[in-house]
Amino acid sequence: MIIDISEVLQTEGKEITEEVTLAMTSFASRLGDFPIQADAPFLLTIANEGNRRLLLRGHVELEAEIACARCLEEVPTSIRFDIDKELVIRDGSAFDEEMEQTDYLIGFELDADKLVCAEILVNWPMKVLCREDCKGICRVCGINLNHGTCSCQKTEPDPRMAAIQDIFQKFKELPV
Ligand SMILES: [Zn+2]
Ligand SMILES: [Zn+2]
Repeated sequence: MIIDISEVLQTEGKEITEEVTLAMTSFASRLGDFPIQADAPFLLTIANEGNRRLLLRGHVELEAEIACARCLEEVPTSIRFDIDKELVIRDGSAFDEEMEQTDYLIGFELDADKLVCAEILVNWPMKVLCREDCKGICRVCGINLNHGTCSCQKTEPDPRMAAIQDIFQKFKELPV
């Protein structure tokens, strides 16, 4: 959703609040494409604080489908965050707190989807599990161990590994 903020940009002290409906249905990152869904439109406040400073404020709630880190099953995960950004406008471009030029505010147009995308990236959960005690997948046959068992673990361990394990065992038995 594109918001025309020409009036705010031209009037010091001016503040508007827009109801933002996100157009995006997925979030593309270097980790892959994730389906996302916004529960409801959110309110974005854009304020001209004077001195070429623009304040963006809002609260976003989304649900994303993220694969469990152990078994890779899709887990509906809620992502919530506040937008609280101060931008400096210089020569028609907007810069954030790190003095990076933003890609979501070009001229008088604020691209709310791009703004939210940048924030999703920062607020992306580090690790998602379908449940705390997820058993993961078998590394040998790939079966999801939450749904069934396999006989892979019952196979004889590699004799070389067994030898190494013996050595470790001997270390443990040594008196300290
Ligand atoms: Zn899992
Ligand atoms: Zn297996």
